[in-house]
Amino acid sequence: MTIDTAHTLPTVDCDTHKPWSNWGGNQTATPAFTVRPTTDDEVVDIVRFAIREGLQIRVVGAGHSFTPLVQTGGILVDLSGLSGVTGVNAEAKRARVRGGTPISEIGGDLWDLGFALSNQGDIDKQSISGAISTGTHGSGIDLGSFSASLRWVRLVNGHGEIVEIGEDQIDELRAAQVALGTLGIFLEVELQVVDRYYLQERITYPTWSQTVSTWDEDIDGNRHYSFLWCQQDASAALYELPTPEGESMVNRSYTKRYNAVDVDDTDADHTEGSRRDRSYRIYPGGFMIPFHELEYYVPREHGRAAVEAVQDLIRDVHPDQEYPIEVRWVKGDEGLLSPFYHRDTTVVSVSGAPGTNYWPYLRDVDAVLSQFDARAHWGKIHFMTRERIARIYPEFEKFVDIRRRFDPNGIFLNDHTRALLA
Ligand SMILES: Cc1cc2nc3c(=O)[nH]c(=O)nc-3n(C[C@H](O)[C@H](O)[C@H](O)COP(=O)(O)OP(=O)(O)OC[C@H]3O[C@@H](n4cnc5c(N)ncnc54)[C@H](O)[C@@H]3O)c2cc1C
Repeated sequence: MTIDTAHTLPTVDCDTHKPWSNWGGNQTATPAFTVRPTTDDEVVDIVRFAIREGLQIRVVGAGHSFTPLVQTGGILVDLSGLSGVTGVNAEAKRARVRGGTPISEIGGDLWDLGFALSNQGDIDKQSISGAISTGTHGSGIDLGSFSASLRWVRLVNGHGEIVEIGEDQIDELRAAQVALGTLGIFLEVELQVVDRYYLQERITYPTWSQTVSTWDEDIDGNRHYSFLWCQQDASAALYELPTPEGESMVNRSYTKRYNAVDVDDTDADHTEGSRRDRSYRIYPGGFMIPFHELEYYVPREHGRAAVEAVQDLIRDVHPDQEYPIEVRWVKGDEGLLSPFYHRDTTVVSVSGAPGTNYWPYLRDVDAVLSQFDARAHWGKIHFMTRERIARIYPEFEKFVDIRRRFDPNGIFLNDHTRALLA
């Protein structure tokens, strides 16, 4: 597509032909325009400009997705200028947040108002809208994803109009809960939150037979339960996981449990392995080496078999793969394209080393986990096709109908999302 860059957007901070790449370095694009609006009106102007000029338009949050969700040769909208907590409804325990707010900037503000996010993932660098749009989650069988906490959204649709979606439009809200940026640009979202809470961390290093001996007890008995299973000592070294004195990490799990405790700031403890602090300070991990990740979701009841099938695959076919397997749990929800739609879920994540040919490994993991009726993280490497998605998401067609209503000309679709959701 040839783009006349003389058609700039004079009222909006804008770069032309500025190369973009994601956190993982595996996705790149050169948008004709990269725009940084700071008001809702500027976002409306940008969308109307895209409609007028026939340009594709995508939003970027923190660029932490591994899939080509953000790519565009048209307009890339960076919403970091629309950030901050805008208010809390204390009675309903709802918080409103602007669409470009990084998760890392929500915890402290909510805390001061007496509230907290009910759960968080391994990092807090993502934008709230990026996290919602892909079903980003933490771990805890009684805790939903960020998407599940969405109760209202104000967005600019593909007609260039600002619209609000609340619980009185339940199908549209369920579509917005995981929409990959295809319904429009989220200006502000409302999240269900909880009373603020402190967390106590407990780290253990069980062997695999110990891990499975308390499987359901650990899942049900902890607010947050998750583990990293190591196939080699090098796996633990890669993630800087401490190894118990005189032991090997081979076939052992680095296991995290976080439970709520009734303490205050004076009881905070920063000792690695037994930290105790405000919830939003405990969740985000520190050290993060580069990785390219695939993450699939199987029904909770198949979780152990699915993890053991991937362990066998690594031992028998891909012993050169060093990255640990991460295992987590998420509560079932209602989002039309939520990977947790109507099922409590075991999360199985594997990674390849950037710069290596990890594709045969990831394809084999896909084949193994597809036997367990697996869905995939929309923001991580996957091998889903439209046909597969239509089969595993019972309300897929309802989502597509809503998407077409919000964006009849497909200005928010890029090649990747068009292939899956047009
Ligand atoms: C180091 C690392 C750790 C991670 N940890 C976890 C984890 O613990 N749990 C988990 O589930 N995932 C995790 N992820 C995946 C990550 O949470 C998702 O890919 C998430 O979408 C990234 O958010 P982002 O702000 O970077 O969004 P981007 O990747 O920038 O965008 C994601 C999607 O959201 C859309 N979008 C962004 N902003 C808006 C908006 N305002 N309106 C409409 N659409 C919008 C984009 O168009 C795109 O389709 C991790 C990824 C990395 C790299």
